[in-house]
Amino acid sequence: MNPSDPDAPAALLDLVRERATRYLESLPERPVFPRVRPGDVRARLDGPLPAAGEAPAAVLRRLADAGDAAAVASAGPRYFGFVIGGALPVALGADWLTSVWDQNAGLYVAAPVPTVAEEVAARWLLELFGLPARSSVGFVTGGQMANFTALAAARHAVLRRSGWDVERDGLQGAPRVRVVAGEEAHVTIHGALQMLGLGSGAIVEVPTDGQGRVIAAQLRDALRGHDGPTIVCAQAGNVNTGAVDPLAEVIDAAHEGAAWVHVDGAFGLWAAASPRRRGLLAGIERADSWATDAHKWLNVPYDCGLAIVADPEAHFGAMSLKAEYLEKSDGTARDPLDWTPEFSRRGRGVAVWAALASLGRDGVAALVDRCCDHAARFAELLGREPGIEVLNEVVLNQVLVRFHPESRLANEEPATDAPGADAPGADALTRDVVRRVQEDRVCWLSGTRWRGRDAMRISVSNWSTTAADVERSVDSIRRCYLAGRAPR
Ligand SMILES: *Cc1c(COP(=O)(O)O)cnc(C)c1O
Repeated sequence: MNPSDPDAPAALLDLVRERATRYLESLPERPVFPRVRPGDVRARLDGPLPAAGEAPAAVLRRLADAGDAAAVASAGPRYFGFVIGGALPVALGADWLTSVWDQNAGLYVAAPVPTVAEEVAARWLLELFGLPARSSVGFVTGGQMANFTALAAARHAVLRRSGWDVERDGLQGAPRVRVVAGEEAHVTIHGALQMLGLGSGAIVEVPTDGQGRVIAAQLRDALRGHDGPTIVCAQAGNVNTGAVDPLAEVIDAAHEGAAWVHVDGAFGLWAAASPRRRGLLAGIERADSWATDAHKWLNVPYDCGLAIVADPEAHFGAMSLKAEYLEKSDGTARDPLDWTPEFSRRGRGVAVWAALASLGRDGVAALVDRCCDHAARFAELLGREPGIEVLNEVVLNQVLVRFHPESRLANEEPATDAPGADAPGADALTRDVVRRVQEDRVCWLSGTRWRGRDAMRISVSNWSTTAADVERSVDSIRRCYLAGRAPR
């Protein structure tokens, strides 16, 4: 191969490395949201299917240009929307190698390095979270599929106890499975139940308190008098407030019967890695399954979620497939396709292995604590401002903020859950401030409704966010609030 050929593999990778480095270096200062419309992106990518095609280097340059113009800097330090992590450089590097190797991580024989990396990462994760060492782990695409996979194991186990083989016989004619969950269960719990054929309508909803935590006594009532197959879905980390259900009480109540307890800890489970915050999750190791994300708080590149099941037989029973042509490991290694809904798949656990190997136990704890401390600082600085109210107890990395038309201090106006109890106009003003902050582009965050009131939600999930980023963002939010409040 001619080394000066711009389309030789080395030249293409050099081009990508150069453009990638430039992009990464721009992250701390580039406007967090691009000024683009869908049409602008189409103008760069769309056109008729080429008959002959373009030179690879030209294609990559066009793509990199599109990214420079239109990428949302969600990997950067002032992106506080949804719950989105960035990518630790070591995890990004590991992910590049994963693509270079391009192995099918469904089977050990096809991918010894990715499959063993996942096996090791799985053991490290269980230790980090303080979960039973015998638990099995599936590396799936995200929290949605982690909930799906864990609830498939739950469905397997609770029906098996009733003498029903759901993998073989399906759900037609099966005993009815009750699902009990807090009214604040994440929408992906509903999604998982839809896909599992249990139906999101099967959920018996249990009321929650002002922070979104399930009320244990009410859960106990909901469970009373039923001894059929039951799955309880608890939550560690409410997507708005970060609140954690009273897990010990929930698990006790569920295990008094034969219910399976699943914990959706998409980001909240990471609190278990912090000695300072582990207490919030007390009792969590006694649940039956857990779902979490690595692409949120561990800051590996998209996509990576983790389905963890205390009973590997239930997990395996729900997920494993057999076919004559599949050369499975002889038991000395693990075949990932036995633990995930996917068959062929990316070795997404490689980046998890690299992140954990590089951070170590202390580094993960520091990452979690740093994000929580930044969230607390947001609440402190914003809550100090007359007319700005922090709506939640900031226990993790989530902050809910509401903006009032008058600069009365929040404590002159007792905080209440009752909608409409505060001055009229706060809903509209809060939405307006969110829009103004998005357009200011110093940071990006989104709005939500919390207990019938509009709120701005701030999620601090990025490894690279600094105290200075928090202050710059608070300045932008404060400016946008004052501008939105000014008489027009
Ligand atoms: C983000 C989130 C999910 C879904 O995770 P994805 O990775 O987006 O699929 C589920 N539950 C909770 C509590 C979450 O925060």
